[in-house]
Amino acid sequence: MPTDLAQFIATSPLADTHEHQNSEAAWQASPPDVLCDVFDHYSDSDLVSAGAPQSATAALFDASRDVADRFRAIEPWWQHIQHTGYGEAVRIAARLFYDLEELTPSGLAAANNRAATYRQPGQRDRIFREIARLDHVQIDHFSSFCQPDPVDPSFYRYDISWAGFSGGGFGIGSLAAATDTEITGPESLRAALGELVVRNAPHAVAAKSQHAYERTLAWQERDDAEVAPLIAAKLHGTPLSREQLNALGDWCLAVGAEACGAVGLPVKIHTGHWAGNGGMKTEYVRPGLLSPLLARYPGTRFVLMHAGWPYSEELIALAKHFANVVGDCCWAWSMAPLSVRDFIRHWLHAAPLNKLLTFGGDTGWPISSAAYAHQARAWLTRALQAEVDEGLMSEAQAISAAGRLMVANACEVFGL
Ligand SMILES: [Zn+2]
Repeated sequence: MPTDLAQFIATSPLADTHEHQNSEAAWQASPPDVLCDVFDHYSDSDLVSAGAPQSATAALFDASRDVADRFRAIEPWWQHIQHTGYGEAVRIAARLFYDLEELTPSGLAAANNRAATYRQPGQRDRIFREIARLDHVQIDHFSSFCQPDPVDPSFYRYDISWAGFSGGGFGIGSLAAATDTEITGPESLRAALGELVVRNAPHAVAAKSQHAYERTLAWQERDDAEVAPLIAAKLHGTPLSREQLNALGDWCLAVGAEACGAVGLPVKIHTGHWAGNGGMKTEYVRPGLLSPLLARYPGTRFVLMHAGWPYSEELIALAKHFANVVGDCCWAWSMAPLSVRDFIRHWLHAAPLNKLLTFGGDTGWPISSAAYAHQARAWLTRALQAEVDEGLMSEAQAISAAGRLMVANACEVFGL
């Protein structure tokens, strides 16, 4: 018999604050394949770190090859990752969409013919609304230009990608063309970036930057005199060093933070663990490296993503200290569900409840997103049920907190 709390979390709408969802048309055109549906996205990273050959994990997603053969090729390593957060999401997707309680070569092969049914018109939308039971979906489509979504602009919302600017590697010509600005130096570059925000803000939910994949999150104030020669070099096509790119990136991120603050758009920033294998620079990713930026732009709301995992306590400290810091558990449940269960509980007893966002699948396809949504609901239930069981909250208080964490906070933070 589920508790009232479990029932509430299982059935209430859940805001999805971070995805990279491909379009409805791309989903319908994707090859129907049970293995792509249940293993995408991220579990291949755990397979690789368990020791699976890259060739076998790459073949796993090649829908033109035999389903049973592809699964057999990774099966020894699947046994080792089935209990990780990514592995759990694979099992949830298999159960929810293919009625598979365990993964076997013959079971997967027999289930494969269902994959085509999910690619029929309208199914993507149904998966998000009825199976994932999402309130809305926020999408980083790796572009700085946002248009109203063709299916439903109030349900599918978009981020203005700021990663290229924060990293310093953006194309100055394309920015000039897109904003009808002649860029000659700091003043006109600032105007172009401001124009980019103003033009795209009506169709955007936030600006988003994952520059922690290419440079440190450490930020320092840069003045126009420092970046003027860097902009001139860029205009002449002269390559910049990493240090120069960081200086220009710091300056552009500051311009973006100010411009977004002026129009009420939050700035989302990737913090913590890197996707993939074999490259993570832990010295780049700690949320605390951002504190000079957070202090410099108190009028801008910063959403620090992925629970900062594994530096989650640092994120709680930032949210406790800075009124303009919001935390987001997007993607984090699937990376380390027990850590995020504890993170939620630690947050509740250290930082304000209204500044924590709970869910984002961080995937490109609807089935993965729905599986991750189910996973997040289950673990959020464990976090809040423990609060009730330990006498720290009444069940009514836990239900009220769940409503905030699942949807109300996101609507407040993003002005929806
Ligand atoms: Zn992402």
